[in-house]
Amino acid sequence: MLSGPSGCGKNTVYEALKALDPTVTQTVSATTRAPRTGETDGIDYYFLSEAGFREKIEADAFVEYVRYGENYYGTLKSEVARLLAEQKTVVLIIEVNGARNVKRIYPEATTIFILPPSMEVLRQRLVQRGETTDEETERRIRIAETEMECRDQYDYRVVNDDLDRCVRDVYHIINNA
Ligand code: 5GP
Repeated sequence: MLSGPSGCGKNTVYEALKALDPTVTQTVSATTRAPRTGETDGIDYYFLSEAGFREKIEADAFVEYVRYGENYYGTLKSEVARLLAEQKTVVLIIEVNGARNVKRIYPEATTIFILPPSMEVLRQRLVQRGETTDEETERRIRIAETEMECRDQYDYRVVNDDLDRCVRDVYHIINNA
């Protein structure tokens, strides 16, 4: 599992990791948040309405789900089962509460927290992303501060100041797990 505040670069780390090791595969989560520019349903997320998401909760379809900000996010049991059956190195990129819940169910899973070089850099990255409103940026920074407090609950912490080094560190952690 990879966690880290919004803007810490965990998705970039994941993409580079996948280039190093093609068995590395991310589960596609379900969410009620609206797609960002360039995001595709079924690839980045399964974008669901709140009613659609609730139906999946009722059907016990989630390994874990959380309300994060205004939206729901959840890891589907079917995704984890499919990728494990395909012998993939299954990567969940999820927030801290979800990671804690998954660790309870799969204690053998490795948890890695990606840290931004500083909160100032994190703020700049969130502003540059530009797809979110100022209000959303401020809200994500407040969530980020709370998330950073959870870093010691993770098996490993890696600072994303230099992408190549960060990716190499994560690669070694995964391969020694
Ligand atoms: P974003 O809206 O930026 O794509 O994601 C917001 C946060 O939700 C990120 O920290 C992301 O890792 C996390 N997230 C994405 N999918 C899931 C999920 O299935 N479960 C949980 N618990 N968090 C998720």
